[in-house]
Formats: sequence, structure tokens, C-alpha cells
Amino acid sequence: TTRIERHHYDVVVIGAGGAGLRAAIEARLAGKKTAIISKSLFGKAHTVMAEGGAAAAMGNVNSRDSWQVHFRDTMRGGKFLNNFRMAELHAKESPQRIWELETYGALFDRTKDGKISQRNFGGHEYPRLAHVGDRTGLELIRTLQQKIVSLQQEDKREHGSYDARIKVFSETTITELLLDGDRVAGAFGYYRESGEFVLFEAPAVVLATGGVGRSYKVTSNSWEYTGDGHALALRAGATLINMEFLQFHPTGMVWPVSVKGILVTESVRGDGGILKNSEGKRFMFDYVPDVFRKQYAETPEEADRWYTDPDNNRRPPELLPRDEVARAINSEVKAGRGTPAGGVYLDIASRLPAEEIRRRLPSMHHQFKGLADVDITKEPMEVGPTCHYVMGGIEVEPDSGAAHGSVRGLFAAGEVSGGMHGSNRLGGNSLSDLLVFGKRAGGHAATYVDQLAARPKVEVAAVETAVETALAPLQRDTGENPYTLQQDLQAVMGDLVGIIRREAELEESLVRLAELRERVAKVSATGGRRYNPGWHLALDLRNMLVVSECTAKAALERRESRGGHTREDFPTMDPQWRRVNLVCSLEGDTVRLNRKPLPKMRTELVGLFDRAELAKYLTDEELAEFDALSA
Ligand code: FAD
Repeated sequence: TTRIERHHYDVVVIGAGGAGLRAAIEARLAGKKTAIISKSLFGKAHTVMAEGGAAAAMGNVNSRDSWQVHFRDTMRGGKFLNNFRMAELHAKESPQRIWELETYGALFDRTKDGKISQRNFGGHEYPRLAHVGDRTGLELIRTLQQKIVSLQQEDKREHGSYDARIKVFSETTITELLLDGDRVAGAFGYYRESGEFVLFEAPAVVLATGGVGRSYKVTSNSWEYTGDGHALALRAGATLINMEFLQFHPTGMVWPVSVKGILVTESVRGDGGILKNSEGKRFMFDYVPDVFRKQYAETPEEADRWYTDPDNNRRPPELLPRDEVARAINSEVKAGRGTPAGGVYLDIASRLPAEEIRRRLPSMHHQFKGLADVDITKEPMEVGPTCHYVMGGIEVEPDSGAAHGSVRGLFAAGEVSGGMHGSNRLGGNSLSDLLVFGKRAGGHAATYVDQLAARPKVEVAAVETAVETALAPLQRDTGENPYTLQQDLQAVMGDLVGIIRREAELEESLVRLAELRERVAKVSATGGRRYNPGWHLALDLRNMLVVSECTAKAALERRESRGGHTREDFPTMDPQWRRVNLVCSLEGDTVRLNRKPLPKMRTELVGLFDRAELAKYLTDEELAEFDALSA
């Protein structure tokens, strides 16, 4: 028999990014024995890579900012497909979560009068991103870790052990959730180093596993982002929404090839950087869509004045939401006006003094010097779109983060959850999302545990199946290499379900994914269980595959273009489609897709928009309803 290490917890948090850590802190503060599990090293989540900052309407730099304006920007950015309640909670609670972080020891950059400074970012009407240079995520994670250590020290004093009520299991990958009927009973996985199995028995699980980017050829995501949480939720009976919406960040490095996809923060543009094509033209003025025309400058002169006088000028088009900028770059390159490496130029060198660039963008300066031997204080960068963020994710109850579907005891927060950002996320809205909904999910998981009459039990048979599934790739002699399969999957997703989509290609992608599914079912990994990345990837592949199927199916179904979903054959937004969420569930091995009406926005929230703006998004029927109410 296979040895399995067993642990008992009240709440198991899978993922140690901002959402997971904030959830774990809250569960522990509610007195729950809490485990934090992370696939990579503790502290090495995507959250740590976040550069720009965390959006929160504190009004420190422009006192006109408020949660209402932030809510409005978020809904606009998501093209009104956001779960309005999540966008509302997020806008209202972000400032408290940022201030709270300072009580944990964070130190954000300051304004001259000592308030938390806030920077401009795409789609945000006022300067709103609390930041620490361009290393905000690092400070966020560092502080949350510090808070966890302080809680552990408290526990050592009270209970004699640092691990009494909160423990971190790093380099541990969860491969299955275990159920007792329709209730979560635990999580099963392996230690990456030893390959030994580990079982966490727990009545509540919070998924905070982040994104799915590794299914794409060019991505800013690192190796562990294989959609595990999305897939674990599906297999446990939960549902995913909005999986057709992926954010291609407009500015990833395009050169050298070895680092293609690595992110170039939007702060470069927020701080004055402009985009030019190979003919030297500042092209973004040609790409301002009608829905945004009123808010964006018409001339370079006006755009340049905005940095110092935002009240009397409109913002530069480089700061349009990410989907717009990514498509514009894509069009320029396609039209033959790209750089030698197939991107466009991002120029900050001619816009700010060298010293200022080094002060505001130290990581970017370092990154380009080290990886591309480009000095961004002297030369422009070459950039192009890179798969960055998944708007789609686990369908949750907005207030609690409880997963929809047939499963109870499952919660989700952060990038793995869906709804908050609608069809497109604004930069900076993720870091604040993690804090707001991480706290909520952790707190509600604790309440759920308190209300349970009896603890769910892990079934022996389910554990045996989990072991068999995990060992299968090692036991097959024939079968394909996981790296080949991953490359083929990345090619299908990058080429056929990428930034611009077409019906025939999406149909082809489904055929190719079905073939890949048969090949993945027979994947074989050489070597043993001790630190074996090939084996790990073999196990990740089935997650990547099912999540990719959700994306491809939903992308084929949605016959319009909106946010992070662009159909060449249906190039405009369709108000009827705004009323629909596409919901994925799993029936056996098959991905099912259902249409579900979006929750209806409360009247006082609808009233935050003027009618002319609503008319761009709503159906005539909805507008008539709005008119009747406001009459
Ligand atoms: P993550 O921070 O991604 O953490 C996921 C955790 O889950 C990790 O610990 C991982 O190891 C673990 N995990 C995954 N699968 C498993 C498994 N099977 N078992 C166990 N553990 C698992 N957003 C902003 O708001 N502002 C920014 O400036 C910004 N800049 C960014 C820059 C880059 C380069 C990138 C990649 C993203 C950026 N984002 C930014 C987006 C933002 O960083 C992420 O969306 C956010 O950090 C996600 O946080 P999370 O807590 O949901 O998950």
C-alpha cells in the first residue's frame, strides 16, 4: 500500500498568493485551524510579480475619487458584464483593506503631505493605485506573510507551537478535492520534492490558485499557472463563468525570444510612456472606440497636458483599457508596421529624465537591462500582447465567495474566481480584489465550519482513486511526453483561441482539443516520484485541457466581441449578449455550457451612469425599464 501523510484542519486554503494568504489570516482570526498550501515556494506567487499597484478609491491624490467612481470605472472596464455586487463590494471595501495592510506593516509610497500615494492607470478616472515603486505585489505578500508569522508567534505563546493554528505547506500540489456526498471533505496532493502523498481532511476549502496562462504560447504567467483550481472546482461539481474572457496584456516583452511574454508594467504608460509603430507614429489616437471617445484626448498636445492638469484635459489613449490597447497593437503589427521582433515601440526615454525613470520604474529598468541589454532611459522598449489574466473563473456567491453548483464547503477568491471583472479587468483591480474577497472567503469558510452539525468524512475509495490517478503517468511505458503535449496545447490555444477569434478556427480548436484529450489520457512520465517536473506536468495537463475546453466552447458560443473576447466574425458588442453569462460545468468528462441571465443591477447603482452611457450597453427593453424608473 502507498504511504499517505494525513492532516486535519478546519479550513484548507489552496494557494499562497494575496487571496490565499488574506483568506487564511481571516480563517485563523476566526479561530479556525488553517492550512495554507502552495505549489511553488512560499512567497513565489503571481501576486509577488504585480508591479503597478492596488486600486482603491482613497481620494488621496484627487479628492473627487469615491467608491462610486471606482465602481463605474470597473463596470465600464468589464463592459457591464461584471457581477455588479462584486464590483460594488470591491469598490467600497478596497480602501479599508489597503489601510489594514499598513497596520500589518506595509509601507506604501507617500504623497507630499504624507498620505498613501496613488498613481494613474488605464481605465481609472482618477489616480487610484496605491503602490510601492513598481514592486507593490512584493510588499503585499511580504506584509501578509509577516502577519502570518506574527499570528504563529501568538500561537506559540498560547499553545506551545508555531503551527498550532496556521501552517504553511509549500511546494505541495493539490490534485483532487475529496467529497462526502455534496460536501467538501478534504484535499489530496503530493509534495513536489519527495513525491510523497498527503491528505488534508477538512470541511472547508478555499481555492485561491490564480490563473491559467500556461495553456498559451506567449504568456506573462509562470510555470504553475495551469488552471488547477478551476479544474478542481469543476470536478467537485462547481461551475465556471466567463471562461471566454482572457486578458492579453498589451505590453509583454517580445524580444529576446527566451523571455517572450514577460510583463512590461502598465505603469510605464501611466507615468508617460507612449506607443509608436515602426514609422514612428503615435498610433493609439486612431484606435479610440466610440464608447470611450468622450474620456480620451484627441491630440498629443491635450494628452500631454493631462499628466499635469487632469481636470482640464482628457487622458492619453495609451491608457485605454487593456483589451483596446492589445487589439490596437495587434492591428499595427498585422498591417506591417511592427518592429523587427514583431511588436511596437514603447517609449519612456524621450518622455522623462533618466533619473526619474530609474526612480519610478526600477524593476523595469533592471529587467530590460538584464534580459535584453536595453537601457530604457535611452532607448524605446519593444512590446506586444501577452496572455496575462483570466477573467473567467469559479462562479461564486458575491458576498461569501461560496462556490455555486452542487458542492458545499468550497469557497474561492482571487483570480480563480469569476464575475468581479466582467469581460475585462482594469489594471490594479486584481490586488485589491485579492484582499477584499480573500478576507470574505476566509471569514465565510470559518462561519460555514461553525454551522456544520457533523464533519464530513473522506471515503477510502476516493483516496485510492486519487492515488491511482496520480501514479498512472509513471506506470505507463508507452504514451507521449508531457512537454510535447503541453506545446501542442499551447499552439492550439495561441493560434486558434487567441486574441482575435473566428468561428472556423474555434471549431477546429475543439477537434484538436478532443484529440489532445485522448493523448493526455495516455501521457507517460519517465523517472520516479522524487522531484520529477515531467510527472508534475503530466498531472497538470488534464487541468489545462479541461479549462481550455471551457474557454474554446464559450468563445465559440459567444457571438459578439466584448472585453477579452474578440470575434472577427462578430466585431461589435451586442446588448442581448450582455445579459448572458456562459456557465461551464462537468458531466462525467464532458464540458457542458449553459446560458444564465446576469443578476440585475440595483437601481441606485444603475443611477450612477448617465443614460447616454447606458444606451451603449443595455437593450432597448432594459433602457425602457430604466426610463420608467427614473421618470
Ligand atoms: P496567485 O498570486 O497567482 O497565487 C496562486 C497560488 O496558488 C500560488 O501560491 C500557487 O503556487 C498556488 N497553486 C496553484 N495551483 C495549485 C495547486 N494545484 N496546489 C497548491 N497550490 C497551487 N494585478 C494588479 O492588480 N496590479 C498589478 O500591478 C499586477 N501586475 C501583474 C504582473 C504580472 C507579471 C502578473 C503575472 C500579474 C499581475 N497582476 C497585477 C495580476 C495579479 O498579480 C494576479 O491576478 C494576482 O496576483 C492573483 O492572485 P491570487 O492570490 O489569486 O493568486
